[in-house]
Amino acid sequence: MKKALLSTLVLPLLLAVCTPQALANGHNPPPSADSSLQTLLEGNKRFVVGNLLHPHQTPAHRTGLAKGQHPIATILSCSDSRVPPEVVFDQGLGDLFVTRVAGNVLSDEVLGSIEYGAEHLEIPLIVVLGHERCGAVTAVVQGEHASGSIKSLFKHIQPAVQKAKQSHPPDLVEASVRTNVRMVVHQIETSKPLLAQKIHAGKVHVVGARYDLDTGEIELLR
Ligand SMILES: [Zn+2]
Repeated sequence: MKKALLSTLVLPLLLAVCTPQALANGHNPPPSADSSLQTLLEGNKRFVVGNLLHPHQTPAHRTGLAKGQHPIATILSCSDSRVPPEVVFDQGLGDLFVTRVAGNVLSDEVLGSIEYGAEHLEIPLIVVLGHERCGAVTAVVQGEHASGSIKSLFKHIQPAVQKAKQSHPPDLVEASVRTNVRMVVHQIETSKPLLAQKIHAGKVHVVGARYDLDTGEIELLR
């Protein structure tokens, strides 16, 4: 009887735990990029209507995470205090690997963080998240004088503003926000050798998105 119980209960468990991928990672296989994106968009829907779950924020979850993290998505977003990724996607501890910098621009250090997430944490999805009326983008559009290291921040945003100007959009700030996100997505997708190779192999997917300050909605920029 004991033997029968063992084979019924323990063997399937062992088989589930000892798949090559589970052994390599020490955890369940990472989710697909599609599944991660779905989770984020569902969380944003909850945020928009104020029906938040505040998942993964209990002391028990915190304790469980202490030994390691397996985030479902990397987010590169603006430092703007109104766009915290964990809040606008209704996620919790250990869910998102976040880099925030004004204008959501890509410096070498930011790229290194994103590469780390893809290489060492096996994160399948990278989201570049811009937002409506971004102050950093607006400052560049208005040709504001930059002092100190803000200069180098503006330098990263200027190419997007120049490109957006070419189509004479009715709202240059909005067009620049969108162009900036698309350009950063392209920079990540073509970043060699690490990310370009992973993206080509289908292991990592990059999407651009824009957050609406008025409605709280996240729009994917295709
Ligand atoms: Zn901003």
